[in-house]
Amino acid sequence: MRTETFDFIVIGSGLAGLSFALRAAPHGRVAILTKGTVTDSNTSWAQGGIAAAVGESDSWKLHEEDTLVAGAGLNDPEAVRFLVQQAPAAIEWLTSLGARFDLALGREGGHSRNRIVHHADRTGWEVERAVASAVRANPQLTVYEKAFVTDLIFEDGQVCGAMAHVNEMGARAFIGRAVVLATGGCGKIYAHTTNPLVATADGIGLGHRVGAEIKDMEFMQFHPTVLEHAQLKGFLLTEALRGAGATLRNHRGERFMYEYDERLELAPRDVVARAIESEMKRLDTWCVYLDATHLKPEDLQHEFPTIWERLRGVGLKLERDWIPVVPAQHYACGGVVTNLHGQTSVPGLYAAGEVARTGVHGANRLASNSLLEALVFAHAVADHVAANPRPLPEMIGEVTPSQTIPEADAIRIRHRLQSLMTRYAGVFRSTAGLQTAAREIEALRKEYESLRGAPFSAYAHEAYNLLVAAGYVVDQALARKENIGLHFNADLESANSPASPEV
Ligand SMILES: Cc1cc2nc3c(=O)[nH]c(=O)nc-3n(C[C@H](O)[C@H](O)[C@H](O)COP(=O)(O)OP(=O)(O)OC[C@H]3O[C@@H](n4cnc5c(N)ncnc54)[C@H](O)[C@@H]3O)c2cc1C
Repeated sequence: MRTETFDFIVIGSGLAGLSFALRAAPHGRVAILTKGTVTDSNTSWAQGGIAAAVGESDSWKLHEEDTLVAGAGLNDPEAVRFLVQQAPAAIEWLTSLGARFDLALGREGGHSRNRIVHHADRTGWEVERAVASAVRANPQLTVYEKAFVTDLIFEDGQVCGAMAHVNEMGARAFIGRAVVLATGGCGKIYAHTTNPLVATADGIGLGHRVGAEIKDMEFMQFHPTVLEHAQLKGFLLTEALRGAGATLRNHRGERFMYEYDERLELAPRDVVARAIESEMKRLDTWCVYLDATHLKPEDLQHEFPTIWERLRGVGLKLERDWIPVVPAQHYACGGVVTNLHGQTSVPGLYAAGEVARTGVHGANRLASNSLLEALVFAHAVADHVAANPRPLPEMIGEVTPSQTIPEADAIRIRHRLQSLMTRYAGVFRSTAGLQTAAREIEALRKEYESLRGAPFSAYAHEAYNLLVAAGYVVDQALARKENIGLHFNADLESANSPASPEV
């Protein structure tokens, strides 16, 4: 098989992957392997913004406090401090690359100050645009698009490369001094998610296969207000809309948050998501409604241009209609365990961004801390690989990509998995439900193993990675014996929790 040799290999071209590449470029040649086009990423879809204590009355201390409160004390305090202290420099770095941000700082749930640096409601797109154009201009960086990484190359107890199926070139081995997982999220283990198609937990699957430690997968964040519309599935209606005064109503027109939490629509995401699910169950409806009809149309159009336009595309008007919304999977707080330098438990393997579990989020992520985490920790990885040069492997043994299954089987397995996870490992969980999910996921994995032997299919590879990640979510949810942050098992219910539907 043909082998390409670089200094560093990074898998993924979202904010984490591209930030790593740009920072590592002065220290060596970097291959960026990405399974779609460069901008196919969760990053491109981020709406709200990036949290940073850059306002006059703000400080990293306050940002730190808010992050620790959201994480319910399960955060790693060192990682949190590192994150918040680096935040202003991260914004400066993005600005130096040409990212444009609005002058006014936004406010989101859980933040005690206005500290959301943003570009209207398309911050992610703006940031991805800026980093991607800097990458294209840098001769040290080579981007391989449509390069699906199937396996890590593991020799003598360390990771020294990655196997990718590169469009039109077939299978290739990429060898380097260090390999960075920057593969993003795992939303596609659920039927309803805000994540784009690429969020298929590949980094969790790759890390798992070389024995990397994976943790906190039970802390899955569900965004409360995701459009429920067949033509625009998974489209997010940012929290900033509720920050601007939009309210939640049930189908009778009642503002039901009064029944659930005194902070009403601006209660933390997990509280609002549980309230919505309870209300839908109580009234036997398929959605609730976000009402912005009392807000000034010109303000809505100015502050939320993307939402304004996209809704019009499916016949809805923000200033006229109540918008049907449901909670949907949004963000994975857990992932491949890393230290402050992004090192995983496997020598030679690093992780940054949503795939990593750095410890900054604890039991719940504070809004707009994830783009920040992706950038800050990607830079930390680059600084570490630059300061600790490892020799390039002289020779690698025979490497063969792992085999997949026929696509028709992969479609069936993915759908079955998504329906299991949505039913048993969503906002509300129960011990019996999680046990059922665990048994069925194991059966699907065995079935997958028995069907291996088909030609390369990215879709089928993803199915395996989804099964692996879902297994962690369910097992770690079963092991968690208290309701905390994003994890809510109705069998461990606490007195002041919203009524839980049967799961
Ligand atoms: C709708 C939406 C809104 C959001 N809003 C915000 C917000 O306002 N603020 C905030 O902080 N966060 C927000 N988030 C979360 C945030 O966008 C993500 O956590 C963050 O962008 C993750 O960046 P990343 O670089 O780790 O991964 P991503 O940006 O997802 O990039 C992952 C990359 O890995 C590639 N990849 C994956 N598997 C493979 C493989 N096998 N081979 C090759 N390439 C692979 C993908 O193609 C992609 O390029 C939002 C997320 C969504 C979905």
